[in-house]
Amino acid sequence: AASHRAPRDSLGPRLVKEASYTFVRPVPIEQPELLAVSPRALQDLGIDPSEPSNPDFLATVAGNQILTWDEEKEEGIYPWAQCYGGYQFGQWAGQLGDGRAISLFEINSPTTGIRYELQLKGAGKTPYSRFADGKAVLRSSLREFVVSEALNALGIPTTRALSLVLAPNSHVRRETMEPGAICSRFAQSWIRIGTFDILRARGDRKLLRRTAEYVAEEVVGGWENLPGKLPPGDISVTAATPERAVPKDELQGEGKEQENRFARLYREIVRRNARTVAAWQAYGFMNGVLNTDNTSIMGLSMDYGPFAFMDNFDRSYTPNHDDHMLRYSYKNQTSIIWWNLVRLGESFGELIGAGDRCDDEEFITEGVHKDFAATLVERAETIITAAGEEYQAVFKGEYRRIMTARLGLKYFQPKDDKVYSDWLDTLEDLELDFNQSFRKLGNFTLAEIDTEEKRKSIAGRFFHHEGLTCFTPEDEARARMAAWLETWRTRVLGDWKEGHDAERMEAMRKTNPKFIPKGWILDEVISRVEHKGERDILNNIMTLALNPFEESWSWNKEEEERFCGDVPKTSRAMQCSCSS
Ligand code: AMP
Ligand code: MG
Ligand code: MG
Repeated sequence: AASHRAPRDSLGPRLVKEASYTFVRPVPIEQPELLAVSPRALQDLGIDPSEPSNPDFLATVAGNQILTWDEEKEEGIYPWAQCYGGYQFGQWAGQLGDGRAISLFEINSPTTGIRYELQLKGAGKTPYSRFADGKAVLRSSLREFVVSEALNALGIPTTRALSLVLAPNSHVRRETMEPGAICSRFAQSWIRIGTFDILRARGDRKLLRRTAEYVAEEVVGGWENLPGKLPPGDISVTAATPERAVPKDELQGEGKEQENRFARLYREIVRRNARTVAAWQAYGFMNGVLNTDNTSIMGLSMDYGPFAFMDNFDRSYTPNHDDHMLRYSYKNQTSIIWWNLVRLGESFGELIGAGDRCDDEEFITEGVHKDFAATLVERAETIITAAGEEYQAVFKGEYRRIMTARLGLKYFQPKDDKVYSDWLDTLEDLELDFNQSFRKLGNFTLAEIDTEEKRKSIAGRFFHHEGLTCFTPEDEARARMAAWLETWRTRVLGDWKEGHDAERMEAMRKTNPKFIPKGWILDEVISRVEHKGERDILNNIMTLALNPFEESWSWNKEEEERFCGDVPKTSRAMQCSCSS
């Protein structure tokens, strides 16, 4: 359901009806420079490592050449931009994009067996650009490039990035004039909750249903791979094993009229998002702009603007400078994603509420019969409510799974929730670095903390190099950390027999990264690339980002340690504006 291929000069901003995308080609740029390529991305796409030196590679990721389109014969695969809307900061904002992302083609990866859609971000205007320029600045493109690959290396579901291209002659106006850049990125799907929002807002039932079917069949692996019907009773009982929270089941059977395949698709989307938010919370990652147009139906972290990793643990921190209500702060991410998923439930409302009538010809063509409307609404509401419980259960299961590993434990016990919250309260009150503290926790043996005196001494290792930044006096802070360490020591002994320190410490290093691409690091890299003409720094940072669990990377010991060390005092808890 694409609208026709439009010549570039006819591309004004416009509302595009009865379509999910428009064919549009990137605007060519002069003298593009390939700043970086992610080796992990090449590998996962099954592209030869030598390929980036081929001039076709740069021409493609710069948007100067359409690899899959025969200009003379006018045949092949032509690039397209997707249409979506969204709720921004809780308000319906209408048609939004994609104003500056153009998809080039799909790649079937022989490495992962997955089909990816490759797109260029910042390659010029599309019919969805509204009154913006369709471009992206180097600053934001570099941030997206690095964080996409960093999150993936941490095991957090995310869209990926292949390359970063500088457009030296493209001067982009933001707060000041800045150099432009293009990031090529790929994902199993770029469909967002906003893709459905816009179809619902337009009352386009036909395309909404088709898009839902497309998602089930082409994106999440087929109807048969969706979760089984919800079992009766309390689903949270099985939540600690998220993969098995709900047993796989057949499409047919009892209760079928209550929960049809669209309801199961909805639940699949809910579950994926629950797992991703759990990972964000467990690793202290914040997207910063969790509008429905930035919420993936695959549960991928996506559309990186003012994102950040937590420095000192602070539940109220938001990386978004304009987020005065703290809507997108750390502590609100879980409920905001659920808010977005409820919007999706409403878009799916008619499909999920119809039960076994969803395939009736009359329902498909004409919609709900008025005699059935009240029942349909009630059913849709019941299904969304149940999905909300499942969201919480899957979230908890995944959060506990990751926290269990991060704290060096093996098996979750109900009392561990308290162990987590005491740990987080300690980090918050003593203003300690979130990810560094986990890493430090895995760097000593239990024998090193088996007396109160030793625990108080080890406590100092968690403090910043220049000492504590909080108002708590040092001896009190040491006592506080020591008390938690004793709880933790006892807890570890419950899972590991004594003498397994090395094994536990090794396991902890594999789940607690040493390197996290924090705001201040990205800022430094941006300034060195943009203003000092440095190039190697980007590849070096990528080495750290792609291998975050290593102890060292044999690049430059001093630089490595600095980038893994304390946040410089002046750069703590940075915030970004939305302009990118
Ligand atoms: P964001 O809040 O960054 O996710 O942006 C919301 C929407 O605004 C995106 O979907 C884009 O379509 C659009 N947008 C943002 N920046 C630009 C730009 N420079 N040119 C065109 N469209 C843009
Ligand atoms: Mg966006
Ligand atoms: Mg943006």
